[in-house]
Amino acid sequence: MNLCDINYVKKLMQRYQTGTKKSFGQNFLINKSVPERIAYESFSYHKQKNSDKSAVLEIGPGIGCLTYELAREYDKVVAVEIDNSLIPILNETLGEFDNVKVINEDFLKLNLDEFFEKELSDCSVSVCANLPYYITTPIIMALLERARGKLTSITVMVQREVADRLCATTKKGDYGAITASIAYYGEAKKLFDVTPDNFLPPPKVTSSVVRIELYDKIPYEPKSEEMLFKTIQGAFSQRRKTLLNSLSASFSSLSKDKLSSIITDCGFDLNIRGEKLTIGDYVNLSNEILKELN
Ligand code: SAM
Repeated sequence: MNLCDINYVKKLMQRYQTGTKKSFGQNFLINKSVPERIAYESFSYHKQKNSDKSAVLEIGPGIGCLTYELAREYDKVVAVEIDNSLIPILNETLGEFDNVKVINEDFLKLNLDEFFEKELSDCSVSVCANLPYYITTPIIMALLERARGKLTSITVMVQREVADRLCATTKKGDYGAITASIAYYGEAKKLFDVTPDNFLPPPKVTSSVVRIELYDKIPYEPKSEEMLFKTIQGAFSQRRKTLLNSLSASFSSLSKDKLSSIITDCGFDLNIRGEKLTIGDYVNLSNEILKELN
């Protein structure tokens, strides 16, 4: 059985009287080498970091082609799929594995603390998924914020443009609020591109696989994480404006003069833009803003 054979996929869906749904971001992989490589990239890193029982959380298994490869690598796979019409298909395609559990839920509505405690508490865990493009950022942010300390890595396929943003640096790429936020939790690496002809139906744009390698212990100590993320959001709230102008729109209780002196005291030019600051710079800046607000 080749879960990536386009004729097999079409017949399977016909037999279960279902089709791919745009509303759920369904673009299924139809080239076996792609899920094989994604699963390999996820597990090889996971194994390097952990020696205990391994588990992987997959969001959106579709008809199970990536799940299949993950089940051959990890001791345990927990896959969360929103589309109930795919559940009987997954029971068939993954029937040979006793280490896979499929859960029919909207991932974004799960209580992640309870979910991890119930399903994944006895193992070291990574995330691996071909993400539905319409909710890429909320899923990644939910994992970083609400599953912190529980994950080794997050290996995901996203649109190439999003991948460039996730992996940008102050020197290159499309640096945004999510770039700085991810840098707080770990290091994002772009692994490889996947062209539209590898999917059914083909998406309009090229995709990329990214691995976010999470820190065991976050190496930054902001005085307030809430203020750190407010500062990052504020710095990117007005695209193409200077850091000073963006921050003054977000911190209206601080005068422009006060913000100017905070920025220069942190060692930056007043014309600097948000994309030139590293996560360490944002930690310092947010600590200074907090001091002024208290
Ligand atoms: N893993 C399969 C593959 O690689 O061929 C399918 C990937 S497809 C891009 C995205 C999958 O995510 C679909 O199966 C879709 O139904 C599922 N999905 C979309 N929104 C979801 C949500 N909120 N929670 C869980 N699964 C979701």
